[in-house]
Amino acid sequence: MSLQAFISRRVVTPRGIEPALILVDGETIREVVPGEQSPPSGGFEIHNFRNAAILPGLVDSHVHINEPGRTEWEGFSTATRAAAAGGYTFLVDMPLNCLPATTTVAALEAKREAARGKCWVDWAAWGGVVSDSRGDIETLAAAGVLGFKCFLIHPGIDGFTMVTEEDLRATLPHVARTGLPLLVHAELAGPVDAATERLANADWKYYATYLQSRPDEAELQAIRMMLSLCRQYDFRLHIVHLSTAQALPELRTARSEGLPLSVETCPHYLHLLAENIADGATLSKCAPPVRRRENCEALWQGLKDAAIDLVATDHSPCPPAMKRLEEGNFKTAWGGISSLSVALPVMWTEASLRGFTLMDIARWMAEGPARLAGCNRRKGRIAAGFDADLVVFDPEAEFTMTQERLHYRHPLSPYLGETLRGVVEATYLRGRPLFAEGKFPGEPRGREWRR
Ligand SMILES: [Zn+2]
Repeated sequence: MSLQAFISRRVVTPRGIEPALILVDGETIREVVPGEQSPPSGGFEIHNFRNAAILPGLVDSHVHINEPGRTEWEGFSTATRAAAAGGYTFLVDMPLNCLPATTTVAALEAKREAARGKCWVDWAAWGGVVSDSRGDIETLAAAGVLGFKCFLIHPGIDGFTMVTEEDLRATLPHVARTGLPLLVHAELAGPVDAATERLANADWKYYATYLQSRPDEAELQAIRMMLSLCRQYDFRLHIVHLSTAQALPELRTARSEGLPLSVETCPHYLHLLAENIADGATLSKCAPPVRRRENCEALWQGLKDAAIDLVATDHSPCPPAMKRLEEGNFKTAWGGISSLSVALPVMWTEASLRGFTLMDIARWMAEGPARLAGCNRRKGRIAAGFDADLVVFDPEAEFTMTQERLHYRHPLSPYLGETLRGVVEATYLRGRPLFAEGKFPGEPRGREWRR
């Protein structure tokens, strides 16, 4: 078992997509040998995937696992299985929706305890920055979080407070000292509250009502504020789930100034369109919202010119009742889309139509998130010295999305019934199969990633 060779005509490496042989020693890639290869002799276990592509295991830097405390929403076991089925081998858990929120070392320890023995893929935690957390930032960093997350607007749930500009001014020197990134939910309450007030008598069965309640301006103002703070405090700023393409020109300018900035968007902003969301179809509710076609195309352009670095799922599940599917009310339904098992085919369906390749997918969904999380010397690439995290992917196969393919706790999805392109045939974590042909061989053996 310790020496293995993975062969394919389409191995996706940072150099290109080419026939190659991946030599794996134990848990690690020893060497990637390019060219058509005959299987090596001498004690290697051979896996010949022929024409299927081999991608690096995907990294999802934005997942709400919700355990401990809201395990009935999701959990380590179900989220990491769903991830394995979707081609992910590493998840970074968001500090909220679990109880306690991951804002103290004690809460981080409770999370580690809850995760023990349950994880199918490797994982790590983001810490939370809330209104009174300046005393916890450096201790959380020392205890092993990969960075921090904050909200500039109420996060839709109690137990995690938003931060004001004043809170940030007190907190940012601590964040800067850790050298870790601050991930920001960039919507300001002012424009959202004003818009919502104007819609007091509107019909919230219409998606258009919800869309109007979360205007582009809320994201734009938040991003402007964060860019200005980034110039003053010199911390690593990461904008999570960018929805409005109107922010791209200012983000491009900030980047050209050399600000330590990175930007993420999500599969749903790149695939769903506001014009197509039916009345009452609250499965498509998330915040910031899915916007119109023109905006979607501009986000793709942002990926193309690298104004956007990476694509993360923002997998944010809830019990089905909280989606209020019967009443179809966009005001009261939970905002969040679950997509761990389906993100790769959703992305590939759209990306392949626009002429992108699997190298782009690997950059956006493996290498980019690994860099944000600081694990990019071991995760996110098929290269010597990296963990042997591999996804065997048939990029030509098409399938119809059904609940059986969603392995998270509550198989809800706005993508059900869609025909998508690209099938995950197998996923390997550190050299061993996690998922193959719809099944999960073996035991959960994911580990927490430690810096
Ligand atoms: Zn989120």
